[in-house]
Amino acid sequence: MNLDTTVRDGMTPFEAVNHFFARAAEINQLGDAAIEVLAGTYRELRVQLAVRRDDGSRLICNGYRVQHNGARGPYKGGIRFHPEADIEEVRALASLMTWKTALVDVPFGGAKGGVQVDPSRLSEPELERLTRRYTDQIGSVLGPQRDIPAPDMNTNAQTMSWILDQYGRKYGHTPQIVTGKPIALGGSYGRTEATGRGVVMTMDEAVSDAGLGDPSEVSVAVQGFGNVGSWAARIAAEEGYRIVAVSDIEGGIHVPGGINIDQLVAHVADTGTVTGFPGSDAVSNESLLELDVDVLIPAAIGEVITTENADRIQARIVVEGANHPTTPVADRILGDRGITVVPDILANAGGVTVSYYEWVQNNQEMRWSLEDVNRRLEAKLRRAYQQCREFQSGHEGLSLREAGFSLAVARVVEAAELRGYI
Ligand code: NAD
Repeated sequence: MNLDTTVRDGMTPFEAVNHFFARAAEINQLGDAAIEVLAGTYRELRVQLAVRRDDGSRLICNGYRVQHNGARGPYKGGIRFHPEADIEEVRALASLMTWKTALVDVPFGGAKGGVQVDPSRLSEPELERLTRRYTDQIGSVLGPQRDIPAPDMNTNAQTMSWILDQYGRKYGHTPQIVTGKPIALGGSYGRTEATGRGVVMTMDEAVSDAGLGDPSEVSVAVQGFGNVGSWAARIAAEEGYRIVAVSDIEGGIHVPGGINIDQLVAHVADTGTVTGFPGSDAVSNESLLELDVDVLIPAAIGEVITTENADRIQARIVVEGANHPTTPVADRILGDRGITVVPDILANAGGVTVSYYEWVQNNQEMRWSLEDVNRRLEAKLRRAYQQCREFQSGHEGLSLREAGFSLAVARVVEAAELRGYI
């Protein structure tokens, strides 16, 4: 088993997550069987997807569903459409889901799906055919008590609707088969913005711990303006934080006095990108990460904070909206420089938390109010944050990430032992 507590450049995404697991295994003094089970994955399904294009030609690509560990409950994790969603990336994301669900204590395991495709090159009908084909081909490992997908990069409530419909054709109407659905199909109030809201809730905690003062005195840069980044920026701005820079795949914008996020959302609705926002300076995605801000929120892709730039990050706090945006070597550099990192398994866990609430509401055949959802979300995330802080204070010198992984690993191990897996 390739488990590495030393840090080095060039780790694959799954090796990088397993590096953090290995640290937690050391802290928890896990035995060999536990390490072997949890450093691997339970099931990996690869399917070949052949989909008719609008011009009659065929698109052929790979689809994956990886189930990492199900000791604590049904597998749970999003589906990503991305050219780099290969098996290593999907394994990494699936394992992060196991640790995330355990850390916020929702009764799920960890899984992830990926289709290795560039969705920006596909029409809406092509995306629908691709989603339905993928659902048919991974359907046998899904189930409302078995494995429950959700949105991730380049997938959304519409994608979930197609999955729900396609799954229902074969197995009967099953709203609990996906979360992140539209309200009209049994979605939950507050799910769309839940990940961004959770990012802001955990940022609030870290800002207060760091004594940075009132939100109006705290400057924030956000990389990525999709589901997570745009909602984090909107909610943070509502709370009074000064959002000075945001970006998307086209590039970034910088307004030192603070961006009017409502106007930016309207600009993105018109133009499809944040770039060219009136009154802003252009900034590259690379320079955005190195701006002199109080808080940096990477909320796009993985591995953007690396050995190359970790020395130049100026933020006091990094809140990981994206999954694995910081490589293990960079994580160590940030730690040595006294920069607090709120790790992905905590910072972006708001999404899976409200996904759990959506699944519960579907099982109850009830709908909770937005206030109820947000109140429960806030209690859960603040508790998880505080538990990480308490673990840190009991163990000299641990980062929030090491504390979070240690708590999560201990919970998964307990469930796996009780079931007799290890
Ligand atoms: P999304 O597809 O809605 O948005 C992605 C954003 O990132 C877009 O603005 C896109 O333009 C930008 N982007 C893409 N490639 C980029 C690049 N190379 N450089 C800079 N910007 C780039 O995706 P999302 O759902 O917001 O997910 C973003 C991240 O958050 C991912 O790492 C995802 O795994 C993680 N996450 C998402 C959820 C969720 O509920 N959607 C939950 C937990 C974690």
